[in-house]
Amino acid sequence: MNREQITTSIRQWVVDHRTEAIELASRLVQIESVNHPPTGNEAEYQRFFADWMVSENAEVETYELSEVPGLQEHPAYMDSRQYVNRPNVVGRFFGGIAGRSLLFSGHADTVYEGKEPWTLPPFSGQIADGKMYGRGAYDMKGGMAAALMAVKCLKNLCVPIAGKVYIESVVDEEHGGANGTLAGRLRGPNADMAIIPEPSNMKLYPAHLGGGIWKATFTGKSGIGFAGEELISALEATIEFANFLKAYNIYRKEHVEVPSWWQDGRKAEVTLLTIISGDVNRELQEKLPENGELNFWIEGYPGMTGEKIISDLWEFYHVQLSEYPLLQKCKPQIRPLIRYLSASEMKLDAKGADFLRTVAECGKKVHNILSAPPEGAPFACDGFMFNLYSSTPALVLGPSGGNAHAADEFLDLNSYEQLIQWYAHIIVDWCGFLDTEGGKV
Ligand SMILES: [Zn+2]
Repeated sequence: MNREQITTSIRQWVVDHRTEAIELASRLVQIESVNHPPTGNEAEYQRFFADWMVSENAEVETYELSEVPGLQEHPAYMDSRQYVNRPNVVGRFFGGIAGRSLLFSGHADTVYEGKEPWTLPPFSGQIADGKMYGRGAYDMKGGMAAALMAVKCLKNLCVPIAGKVYIESVVDEEHGGANGTLAGRLRGPNADMAIIPEPSNMKLYPAHLGGGIWKATFTGKSGIGFAGEELISALEATIEFANFLKAYNIYRKEHVEVPSWWQDGRKAEVTLLTIISGDVNRELQEKLPENGELNFWIEGYPGMTGEKIISDLWEFYHVQLSEYPLLQKCKPQIRPLIRYLSASEMKLDAKGADFLRTVAECGKKVHNILSAPPEGAPFACDGFMFNLYSSTPALVLGPSGGNAHAADEFLDLNSYEQLIQWYAHIIVDWCGFLDTEGGKV
């Protein structure tokens, strides 16, 4: 089988196995695996994932995070989660030692279905207009299903892959998790390269933003001023701080140096998440609210830390304080709610550059894929556990879709099929294959 025949066969195989591919992605969506910090419901999904890989003759290992030496002592470990019955799963396909290795790594957990109404039930995995709907369809069960189908394709076609391919499904990535990914790096496998099938809309993201969630709390002086005494509304102070954060967002966009990966893309943002003030269980309030809370998210570029982000925020705060009279009387107390998720980028040494080139070239072998230049992902993810804490650089490349973390999350099925082909080609060209005499091509 020469390379051109492999390309033709992969294309035909994906067409012939369309129904099976859709059923697999749909099944993954139907197995609810919602993360409820500090616990999570990934166990059944992980069992299915492991069983599927065993049925494809992979060498599969399932392990608890508590079994991983050095995990809890690691500086990047977040010590606020519980991991009973939340195993990681990893399978090895092909076993060659002549070629390079490749790891697909993705998270098993999803965020919850939310309170907004869904058009189709959130765990149905139903199809409408070329889209598969459901929580996790896009982030990131569709991408993981594509990796599984890509190895199945190459196995069915008996392509003699020269290296090893691993598929890893980790627990607890949402809500600032990433301990499952760290466990995978400490335990291995540490392949030559990794692909994270997070939704990238078929773009190559060799870098990703970081981000953290912080809570600002305000304590005012509550009551009604019968005697004319001065009261301080914590609600109004909270709103002032919200306006301060919006101003800080504009300031950062103008003054923070933007790394080249994000020059043409979305810049790091400051986002307001929730405001709570007053007694929310009573419709009629009889006094100025005493307490206010504001949760916010700040993104960062590679090299920034959570501590630095907050110290920069305080610096701006003190410069601007004269503009915010209520904050002078009602100072915010700020604390982090999650570990800061670092931004990171792939090391672009000869190997990294070769990998990016291979991935882009493979995209051309799939019909209709316009390979855009690599750029920085407009989101935070667990890629930093690879790029900062392991010898395996990670590229984010996943399917198209929409409404991640919202109602009516969907996976674009056309991109899903293209991605199966794309992954299959990457495996062939990155890991190599053996010719009829057993030499590596
Ligand atoms: Zn995700």
